[in-house]
Amino acid sequence: MTSRIGSALAIAAMFALTSAAAAPAGDTVDSHLAAAKTAAAFDFTGTLARTCIVPQTGPGRDVAPPAPPARDTWFTEPAKVFDNLYFVGTKIHSSWALTTGDGIILIDTLYDYASDEAIVGGMKKLGLDPNSVKYVIVSHAHGDHVGGAKMMQDRFHPRLVMGAPDWDAIEKSQNQYPKGKPKRDIVAADGQKITLGDASVTLITTPGHTPGTLSMIFQVKDNGRPLTVAYSGGTAFNFVNDVPHFDTYINSQRKMAAAAAAAGATILMSNHSEFDNAVTKIKLMAARKAGEPHPFEIGREAVARYFRVTDECAQVARMKLR
Ligand SMILES: [Zn+2]
Repeated sequence: MTSRIGSALAIAAMFALTSAAAAPAGDTVDSHLAAAKTAAAFDFTGTLARTCIVPQTGPGRDVAPPAPPARDTWFTEPAKVFDNLYFVGTKIHSSWALTTGDGIILIDTLYDYASDEAIVGGMKKLGLDPNSVKYVIVSHAHGDHVGGAKMMQDRFHPRLVMGAPDWDAIEKSQNQYPKGKPKRDIVAADGQKITLGDASVTLITTPGHTPGTLSMIFQVKDNGRPLTVAYSGGTAFNFVNDVPHFDTYINSQRKMAAAAAAAGATILMSNHSEFDNAVTKIKLMAARKAGEPHPFEIGREAVARYFRVTDECAQVARMKLR
């Protein structure tokens, strides 16, 4: 018995050695995890933790939103972050007002419970007129980003932009919109530009996090100096965890990394502070001295590393499925 187990182990060990030798260099769970850790460095610890370390969760069920959490768990002050970009988000989720000569493009709309105070109230505090919002771009139709879309659509009548599969998901949902659904408006096309006044947001379809996830490229100005933002529209793996879904996700990370590089993006933004440290960086702005770089300006190499983290961590998760 013992010798049979022993020889089975020996064969297993030989097989492991053989398959390890046959695998392309670095194509193991450990090598992808190591690559992700290196890419994350100190810039993307939240992204690393969420996508490489903590257990993944599947897609959410079609249920009504839970009761709103206490205000002090999410409220944070709005802020002017660039000459033409204002933060009107929460401690957890981002919403951004991009100002132009002809009105405002709003990016993402938070949970329903936070949207009135954080977005409408935030804009008013910052001297912006919510009536001048002409476009609302929703990165994807999860409650934490699409929650305020109907409120914005009903009150201020902007054009509402979303990916086709996410419009479909809203229309199919039975329970997630107890106060009513945003009405289908502009269906985003890959490479489409949403142009208003002197500003333009390029939409990049990045299916994965949801089938209709939109990422974006746009310009901001820091004391007149133009800088390019790569906005990642969806990060965590709360989709059906199988090989085809991970392949779709990985391809989208590479597509967006290439778009960010081609555009010369030196700023990486996400719709969760967990992934881009937006709220912390906004606090750091108070200590910025003349001549110091803007806390959001991390450089092309760091922007590339963000997409390397999500790519490598998706490969780790994909490999663990086998
Ligand atoms: Zn989401």
